[in-house]
Amino acid sequence: MTVMLDAMDTARRASTNVLDVLVVKIGGGAGLDLERCLADLAQVARQRPVVIVHGVSDTMNRLCAERGVPVRTLTSPSGHESRYTDPATRDLFVEATGLVGAQIVRALAAHGVRAAVVSGAIHGARKAAIRAVVNGRVVMIRDDYSGTITHTDPAPIRDALAQGLVPVVAPLATSPDGWLNVDGDRASASVAAALGAADLVILSNVRGLYRRYPDESSLIDHVPAAQIETALDAAQGRMKRKVLGAQEALRGGVRRVIVADGRAPQPVSAALNGAGTVFC
Ligand code: ADP
Repeated sequence: MTVMLDAMDTARRASTNVLDVLVVKIGGGAGLDLERCLADLAQVARQRPVVIVHGVSDTMNRLCAERGVPVRTLTSPSGHESRYTDPATRDLFVEATGLVGAQIVRALAAHGVRAAVVSGAIHGARKAAIRAVVNGRVVMIRDDYSGTITHTDPAPIRDALAQGLVPVVAPLATSPDGWLNVDGDRASASVAAALGAADLVILSNVRGLYRRYPDESSLIDHVPAAQIETALDAAQGRMKRKVLGAQEALRGGVRRVIVADGRAPQPVSAALNGAGTVFC
């Protein structure tokens, strides 16, 4: 009887833990204090299972400058911008993810939390040819290795969680064409949905979604799922991807998505306590 109850208790704890998963996307841009985010995350990771998805943009720009690889942006005919990831840039992108992943694992270890880089969970596809506007003319680009996410396999991330580790996931998708550069915000949404996570916190270098960017006092504190289309109108540029990510995560079953300030003293705890823009 005791053995059976123990087994039931273990199963209950395991299922409660899975439901309580927190995914945190840490932006890769300048302005966000990575060490401070991780110090706070280490505290939160003692209370509940945490998965980190990280960006690399700052490290990537530094590597490109060091190696003399130009940073180029592709603009689609509809005005959507993305990093032009030719084969040389893709190699640097993979290197940048390795550097940032190792930095996160080291920093968490310094706070007594074990973490591990998990790769190959995100799957993607690239288009053999994409249309881009160059010097006012539409041209076909055939050597771009950025892609869209097809799905995330939760198994390797769950395995790491089951070992008591904080899984660290890069914005890289595996594909028949090799590694692809994928958007970190959409990656975090896909990971959160695949895991059935309770919460997704997206940390960035702004307080959240502003109604009138860049006016900080116009912060939108709450967006019900039914009003995400209106929120999309307020978001410009890269903030649009966070709002799209929020929409994808909620549709995928995530209970709450919070876009919050990664520059705050305890950014993850503050977000979980309601700071930032809450989508639910
Ligand atoms: P990260 O690299 O941290 O993921 P991004 O640069 O991708 O961050 O996205 C955050 C940026 O989105 C902000 O720094 C800001 O310049 C821009 N932005 C555009 N529209 C808005 C808005 N309505 N509210 C807040 N930020 C916005």
